[in-house]
Amino acid sequence: MELWYTEQQTEHVRFSIKIKQHLFSSHSGFQQVDVFDSVEFGKFLTLDGLMMVTEKDEFIYHDMIVHVPMATNPNIKKVLVIGAGDGGTVRELLRYPHLETIDMVEIDKMVVDVSVEFLPQTASQLYDEKVNLYFEDGLKFVRSKVNEYDLIIVDSTDPFGPGEGLFTKEFYSNCYRALKAEGILVNQHESPYYPAFERNMRRAHQRISEIFEVAQVYQAHIPTYPSGHWLFGYASKGILPINKHVNSWHEYGLKTKYYNPALHVGCFALPSYVI
Ligand code: SAM
Repeated sequence: MELWYTEQQTEHVRFSIKIKQHLFSSHSGFQQVDVFDSVEFGKFLTLDGLMMVTEKDEFIYHDMIVHVPMATNPNIKKVLVIGAGDGGTVRELLRYPHLETIDMVEIDKMVVDVSVEFLPQTASQLYDEKVNLYFEDGLKFVRSKVNEYDLIIVDSTDPFGPGEGLFTKEFYSNCYRALKAEGILVNQHESPYYPAFERNMRRAHQRISEIFEVAQVYQAHIPTYPSGHWLFGYASKGILPINKHVNSWHEYGLKTKYYNPALHVGCFALPSYVI
């Protein structure tokens, strides 16, 4: 008998991965949490039946959500990460020795526990001494923060269920206030391809543009996300996403499988149907 994980990506499109084993399944109170082991993508985590992270392609997402902002400003010391319970974002951030503190706010402790147990590739550094882990709603956490962070990374689920508040104007305004003058906000920005995703993507961009002086999107190819074409948002109070620092990123000596400074410049060039 063959076992297949099938995700309903739109009303008319399904995406399937042949699985070896269903390793974990439980409802956390916030969402349905599942972990599978597969032939092609290794182990992977889904929340409410939607793909979050696979061992095989997570490097693309985590390279792009971390190295793009880190390359634009060499003075990032204090970071707020919202969501990101699988740990991949924290793992990549910790590769920069000059970074001092990461506050990570994940609403669902079960995601962290399950990732630590089944996905050590992403989760193994979540309890590093530079990381302060809070199990709270990121929307509420950021309300009381003023002029505190150099970078905020919103590594969230889609804009429904627990992630809904992380796509609101209130949240983006609070992020603006929580950032220092040189601060940068980067977020998981949905896909431009299928209409339901595109609507969310454009609404998020509109809201961010009304608050931040600089608001752009950049793209990556992520095979296991709906359509494979995924966007990230880059917003700041002035620092441009392509600047003189980007080419010096090589000096950190980091080995990456996806990110490099040439790609950094290229990923902000969008297809005509997205602009
Ligand atoms: N790479 C992923 C993607 O784009 O599909 C995101 C992965 S990460 C697992 C997303 C995390 O955001 C989840 O663990 C979820 O529990 C968390 N999350 C959702 N809403 C949240 C909120 N309001 N505050 C903090 N964390 C939240």
